Amino acid sequence: MKAHDGMYIDGAWRPAAGPGVIEVVNPADEQVIATVPAGTVEDVDAAVRAARAALPGWAATPPAERAARLAALRDVLVARQDEIAETVTAELGSPPKLSQTVHAGVPIAVTGSYAELAATYAFEERTGNSTVLHEPVGVVGAITPWNYPLHQIVAKTAPALAAGCTVVVKPAEDTPLVARLFAEAVHEAGIPAGVFNLVTGLGPVAGQALAEHPGVDLVSFTGSTAVGRRIGAIASGMVKKVALELGGKSANVILPGADLARAVNVGVANVMSNSGQTCSAWTRMLVHHDQYDEAVELAAAAAAKYGDRIGPLVSATQRDRVRGYIAKGVAEGARLAAGGPDSPHERGYYVSPTVFADVTPGMTIAQEEIFGPVLSVLRYTDEDDALRIANGTVYGLAGAVWAADETEAVAFARRMETGQVDINGGRFNPLAPFGGYKQSGVGRELGAHGLAEYLQTKSFQF
Ligand code: NAP
Ligand code: MG
Repeated sequence: MKAHDGMYIDGAWRPAAGPGVIEVVNPADEQVIATVPAGTVEDVDAAVRAARAALPGWAATPPAERAARLAALRDVLVARQDEIAETVTAELGSPPKLSQTVHAGVPIAVTGSYAELAATYAFEERTGNSTVLHEPVGVVGAITPWNYPLHQIVAKTAPALAAGCTVVVKPAEDTPLVARLFAEAVHEAGIPAGVFNLVTGLGPVAGQALAEHPGVDLVSFTGSTAVGRRIGAIASGMVKKVALELGGKSANVILPGADLARAVNVGVANVMSNSGQTCSAWTRMLVHHDQYDEAVELAAAAAAKYGDRIGPLVSATQRDRVRGYIAKGVAEGARLAAGGPDSPHERGYYVSPTVFADVTPGMTIAQEEIFGPVLSVLRYTDEDDALRIANGTVYGLAGAVWAADETEAVAFARRMETGQVDINGGRFNPLAPFGGYKQSGVGRELGAHGLAEYLQTKSFQF
């Protein structure tokens, strides 16, 4: 057990203002592995002041130099990749391979992409008799969740720093250790004092203080829709900019003529990965009634194969929430084709990979985000029916379409109300904008569109 001290503020680890601590638990064995300080309003205030003081200097730093610092940061993340992966496995419970490739690997790719974008982005343009400057929005308050703990921090910090903004991050209470590691990496990369600051703490205390701080110009939040709504209300009351990445209930639409086995297997892997704790997971599989029974059988077999390889959920609270949803699915008449509410291990916050068949669009498990390894398989009669079901939730974050050919899949995907669609198993692209239609959020992350969120225009007329 390691008792960590201090928060990274103004380029140094400073003691917290108050005595409170947060215990970090390994969800695989329920042991307390560390404590971190629980930040208060005072800590947040110190961090925001440091970020404000550093803003003019960083905003005036030439983009090529900001790019060089981001490239150095990427190199530190590469050098510390094993340590990052081990830390995420310890505090989130994700299997070591996933921690290496995704939890440590994706932040490296994203930091690298912003090193490149900072160097090449047109921060100035001409239109008619005007010059338009793209200037940093200012001080960013970033509030992040635990599901991809380093990615969520990097997906906000890297574009913000590329834009010339300064940042205060409040990471999720369940996963503060990789956030601390990231602060060390920022320091090692030679990013000037105050440009990046970290305050660990509880959402309703440190998170809320950050959202409410008058020295914060933009609040960027990823997490639940319930908290997102509050953050949005605080920000609009203070006329601050706000970006919200919220929940999802994405559809995996398998059209007749698609490679059914592949579509089902990739679909199940997508839902079970990270124990289902992925906002963009395709938690609803839509299958034509003629292929329905075969698809359910394939999905159940694929889920059963996951069995022991799946990690735990992040906390007892999340495990209990997910088990509650499974019980609700059964109570509302869905049929368990794999898994169920019983825990597969005595210790740890595990939930069995679960597949529900005979799910109808109005059921709770077909409407609400479960955030666990639970897949619902729904039947449709024709394409219009499939589209109605796919678009029939309050969310619109991601999705997938499988068809005999790309043209047919794209024609369907154009009609979907969602921010991202993978066509016939398309790969993740760290440059593609990510974000939600409808109640999945406001704003976009990643790539040039993610950078633009941290910029505001000023125009000169000649
Ligand atoms: P959450 O409560 O919304 O937490 C997200 C972040 O907001 C955490 O840092 C949290 O701090 C902080 N927070 C909580 N209450 C706050 C408040 N009143 N003011 C300011 N900040 C506050 O999410 P969660 O409960 O940890 O995760 C559960 C749900 O979030 C999931 O079931 C899923 O629906 C959604 N989620 C979505 C995404 C996405 O990418 N779209 C990612 C992860 C989770 P604490 O850690 O101290 O609570
Ligand atoms: Mg929470």
